[in-house]
Amino acid sequence: MTRFVILLFLWVNGYAYAQTKVLDVVYPREGVLIGSNDSLFVFGCVKVAHQSLRINTMSTPTHEDGAFIQFLPITNVQKDSVFQMRFEIKTKDCTIVRYHRVRIPLLPRPLDSDSPQIDSLSLKPSRVHRLQTGDDIPIACRATPHASVEFIIIDSSGKIIDGPYPMAEYETDRMDDFPNAVYGEDRDTRSEPIPGMYSATYRLREGISYQRSRVAFRVEKKKKSITSVARGFIDLWPKHERLVAELNGPYHQPRTMPGQSFYYFLQGGLRVLIDGSIGSWRRLRFAENHSAWVSEDELTYAAPGTPVPASTIPVIRVRRDERTSVIKLTMSEKLPYRVEQISPVMFKLFVYGGKADTDWIRFETEDPDIAQIHWSQPERDVFCVTVSLHSPLSWGYEVRYENSNLVWRIYHKPKQTSLKGLRICIDPGHTKDPGSVGPRRTTEKQANVEIAQWLKKLLIADGAEVLMTHDDTTKGLTLYERVQFADANNCDLFVSIHHNALPDGVNPLRSNFGHSVIYYHPHSRLLGEKILESLVNKVKLPNYGVFQGNIAVVRNSRMPAVLVENAFIMLPDQEKKIRDPKFQQTCAEAIRDGLRQFMK
Ligand SMILES: [Zn+2]
Repeated sequence: MTRFVILLFLWVNGYAYAQTKVLDVVYPREGVLIGSNDSLFVFGCVKVAHQSLRINTMSTPTHEDGAFIQFLPITNVQKDSVFQMRFEIKTKDCTIVRYHRVRIPLLPRPLDSDSPQIDSLSLKPSRVHRLQTGDDIPIACRATPHASVEFIIIDSSGKIIDGPYPMAEYETDRMDDFPNAVYGEDRDTRSEPIPGMYSATYRLREGISYQRSRVAFRVEKKKKSITSVARGFIDLWPKHERLVAELNGPYHQPRTMPGQSFYYFLQGGLRVLIDGSIGSWRRLRFAENHSAWVSEDELTYAAPGTPVPASTIPVIRVRRDERTSVIKLTMSEKLPYRVEQISPVMFKLFVYGGKADTDWIRFETEDPDIAQIHWSQPERDVFCVTVSLHSPLSWGYEVRYENSNLVWRIYHKPKQTSLKGLRICIDPGHTKDPGSVGPRRTTEKQANVEIAQWLKKLLIADGAEVLMTHDDTTKGLTLYERVQFADANNCDLFVSIHHNALPDGVNPLRSNFGHSVIYYHPHSRLLGEKILESLVNKVKLPNYGVFQGNIAVVRNSRMPAVLVENAFIMLPDQEKKIRDPKFQQTCAEAIRDGLRQFMK
């Protein structure tokens, strides 16, 4: 009888557990490929009253409402790169076990070391390279370790046109631990190179007519050899054609290399010489030593024969408007440019293709803020204007073409020392996407809007005019639309409100995760520091620090702009705080105090 009662009890309980969700694993989702291969964090909520939680034998503390986070080493990866987590939840009456699986990116294993082998998917170049003599192409393959590997260049009929060249057993592609370098501890994690990764650099040579040419590899081991041909083609870019194209959008951000950092910030309508391509990327040749890359769909080719843009700069005029120093370069044609802000008060403007014929700098009006301005020709085809200011802080700058004349406006700090009369843009982060999510499924976009609304009230009480990029969680602008919104409304300051999370592979159980700010331009750094200082003093989470980030909303904003990460939504204790209106209000007060301090 007793036995029957127990069995019935277990059956009823088991049935109940099967009906209600006992465990909600928020991150990582079941079955996803995660971004780390040695460790991962997992967070979520246990939904039943319980005494303990173990994940893969690691005892895991839970909050009173069941929220947890754990950092696990990745061991025992199963077939098909599956890593399984075993959740063991002990309740008063029984032990519940749940499994959760994710996929792990694995490093390639060395190939068989006795006979020559080659991994055909590893061969580089894999894309079409249309470049010029003197340009370098990275060559790579994965093959039998400790073999003799060389490559040749063949024409479309398979005939050797260059080589053979030796390849070194040298791995070039693998980076140090990027997520930890940015977000975690500064550790030297470079692991041993994988045997059998071969690399070389090939320079396109004068006198060889590359046309649908390809790279072929030969691997020799123990007197046996095999060959394989890379998918990518090598062509010569028709240099003599001097192909000119126009940047066809309103705004462009050419990169240092295909897919790498945004580096130039240009208005559309500029014409540029194009002198190479890799896959769908096109190389913009700004000057002999300066080039950048954009996607081909950002370009419209000009009629053949269109001259390569160039201009002399005979006159620089300097004028003072109410809030701005206006520096105008008279030019016959619009040219690419780049401003380097060396400090909050020191700038260099480079004009590519610009040539000095500059006998005059005309000061149209007095400008009490400009300490010095002078021009130079640092390279044959690069013109430079250097400006230093008296004031301790500039307030951003913009470069626009008016007809073909380049107009550079440097903004100065408004007169007031309080927030009264300032126009402040508040940008609650995300909306189309929820942003990061906490163990209790609190969405970042919700928390961002709530703090933004508190902040709006406080700033209005200080006499500021507040513009929100959006004020609920349903609609929202793209990142660039947010920047344009602040710009079009002539805002004085831009504050984006966010909550933080970590990428895979970073240990979330370390103690320094709390408040942080991200700025891009030197003139925005002080604003970031003041807000961070105020958050740390008033809200009292750990100081996670100031970051200079190449991210859209702070990089593309003209006015002082920062992105505030109030707290870490993925950490159970911080997520709990984030849900508390009192905490949200205190964060908003701290941001307001930081803004006040910045204006003093
Ligand atoms: Zn965010």
